Amino acid sequence: MGPCGGPPPLVMAEHINDPRQTEIQYVKGVGPRLATLFGKLGIHTAYELAMHFPRRYEDRRNLPKLKSLRPGMQVTVRGRISHVESKVGRSRMVRVIAVLNDGTGQVTLTWFNQPWLAKKLRDSDGEVIAFGTIREGQWGYEMASPDYEIIDEDAEPSDFGAIVPVYASTENLNQKVLRKAARAALEMTLPTLQDPMPSQVVHEAGLEPYAWSLQRIHRPETEEEMNRARARFVFDELFTIQLLVQLKRVKTQQEPGIVFPISRIVGRGQTTGLFTEGEIDPGEATLWDQAEAFLPFRLTGAQRLVIGQIWEDMERPTPMNRLLQGDVGSGKTAVAACAMLAAVRCGYQAALMAPTEILAEQHAMNLRRLFEPTGIEVVFLAGKLNAKTTAKTREAVASGRAHIVVGTHALIQEGVKFAQLGLAVIDEQHRFGVMQRVALRQKSDRVPDVLVMTATPIPRTLAMTVYGDLDVSVIDELPPGRKPIKTHWKRPSDRPKVYENVRALVQQGRQAYFVCPAIEESEKLQVQAAVDLHYRLSEQVFPEFKVGLLHGQLKPAEKESVMEAFRQGELHILVATVVIEVGVDVPNASVMVVEDANRFGLSQLHQIRGRVGRGEHQSFCILIADASSDDARERMEVLVETQDGFVIAEADLRIRGPGSLVGTEQSGVVDLRVADLIRDQIILEKARSFAARIAESDPHLQKPEHALLAAKFTERASDQAWIIVS
Ligand code: ADP
Ligand code: MG
Repeated sequence: MGPCGGPPPLVMAEHINDPRQTEIQYVKGVGPRLATLFGKLGIHTAYELAMHFPRRYEDRRNLPKLKSLRPGMQVTVRGRISHVESKVGRSRMVRVIAVLNDGTGQVTLTWFNQPWLAKKLRDSDGEVIAFGTIREGQWGYEMASPDYEIIDEDAEPSDFGAIVPVYASTENLNQKVLRKAARAALEMTLPTLQDPMPSQVVHEAGLEPYAWSLQRIHRPETEEEMNRARARFVFDELFTIQLLVQLKRVKTQQEPGIVFPISRIVGRGQTTGLFTEGEIDPGEATLWDQAEAFLPFRLTGAQRLVIGQIWEDMERPTPMNRLLQGDVGSGKTAVAACAMLAAVRCGYQAALMAPTEILAEQHAMNLRRLFEPTGIEVVFLAGKLNAKTTAKTREAVASGRAHIVVGTHALIQEGVKFAQLGLAVIDEQHRFGVMQRVALRQKSDRVPDVLVMTATPIPRTLAMTVYGDLDVSVIDELPPGRKPIKTHWKRPSDRPKVYENVRALVQQGRQAYFVCPAIEESEKLQVQAAVDLHYRLSEQVFPEFKVGLLHGQLKPAEKESVMEAFRQGELHILVATVVIEVGVDVPNASVMVVEDANRFGLSQLHQIRGRVGRGEHQSFCILIADASSDDARERMEVLVETQDGFVIAEADLRIRGPGSLVGTEQSGVVDLRVADLIRDQIILEKARSFAARIAESDPHLQKPEHALLAAKFTERASDQAWIIVS
């Protein structure tokens, strides 16, 4: 999109010096042909090129004499070419070998697959300059595929012997061209820059000036300058996101919410609202007593703590917006149940939304069982129910006869009306987009309280970014009696032995899951893989056992009957695709075998593993993987080593970036160009506190000193949200 939203404007005389209006083709050294390549990088104007920051730098200040070279040095070398030859290898690859000499010594430069280079080097009579890493090679000291330049009139001498930027590029657009164009774009842009940051923030946060930082982020003279310039843009980037988040937060706090009279519920007749007529008998018990009475176990300390936080929120006049984080198996469902109990006791309805039908159905079943003795009515809504059931359920929800509604996305469809929705719980939030959170809130005249739950432990920095408008509660304790899961990483050739161990455990009465990976390109292939594995296990490996099959293409009723059979212990082994990744709870299942485990992400494997280790028996997780890449090996090793969800999440963030933890729909929010959520924690905290101050003192960004900030955002009245526009 052009800076004005419409088609790119024509360059007119008075615009010629405005870098935001200057098409990239008019930047020195670009032209119409290269402009297309810049377009591929999303760069259409001179300004956008000036804002295209280096991806990394090469320190080429080190220009030693060739006699002092040692293996491992990353250096710039300079000299004359004394010898050039081309060799054709066995695979018909052409290798160009050139010897560079500076009078004190020599180094061999080699390039693959650039046959024309031999002639070019032979014809050159000037000096050649090259940058790369020295290693001991076949012909003495050698530099493989170095960045090079034949020095002539045109050369930019400062691209050697300096810290040199390396930009993200695209095919056929080389660094030399990019550097030259970036320098020209920078020269155009610098005089026109206005610092969007209020000067008070710049001053108090100790930020470098904007123009200085832009100049130095492209062309730092020292490492220290590079770091200071970077810190400025890291701050700006994190500040923008935090301001967005804080504006949203201030806004929700101003909406009138529901005051649930929780502390007044001490006995019979004290509840108010819809459901008091004979249906519910709160007895003489306090809400805490009621909670302890209807759960089949004693709450852990961590569970009690967060239930207290949630109830306090519910009693406040501002709408609750709380994130509940707890590792797999930490017992979030019980916490949700207590929150819903409170809502219903106060005369409101509660909704629980889950990302898959299997999970929603399982929640509905568990909650029904739990709430049955209390007279609270739990209903289930999902897309694939037949029309008659759907109509009947919707009617129960609209009339208020149904107190708790459990379901999938079906809950937020048009046609679903609540009599009096007071609390919305969203399970496994990372599977949903932000929009669904908004949609569920809008299901009611009064703004309902919202509790979102996630089992993906999110490092604090990421949580502050994606869920920065939410208050966060953490369950940091597992229910008592859990034994750590023993995790093993096995090669495919070890399969027979793995199968024998599974056999032994099933003979002792345990149950096992076999998970086969998602095949991203095709759901059909994925189902086929599960069908094949099921066939192999049931017919060939374990003919004496009952082996079930669960995948995404089964009908809901079929899925449910398979799950039920597994829950009842009628099936010994369950072969499944990742549909079981979230939430499934069968305590007797103590073995998890993950086929081709290298095809899963870390956090996903952690979730899958969390399906076992839920009962009294020692549980095992076997990862079958070749793991030939470093990345895959690291993932397997992390899993074998730790069961700590936060350690795993940090590792995932490091290896794969934020998208892996918060889902693609939300990763846009954390599409950071400069900042790094692991490295830049301190700057993040600082940016957050400055942003909060501005959001509170000027929630509509109307003060003159915030005008440039306001231009970065637009306030959308319709869904009461702020969005970033530039
Ligand atoms: P998750 O946080 O992964 O959603 P669940 O809510 O599914 O976890 O709980 C995992 C298992 O732990 C369930 O079988 C649940 O009944 C059990 N559980 C939860 N809280 C407790 C507790 N305080 N004491 C004993 N078992 C508990
Ligand atoms: Mg759960």
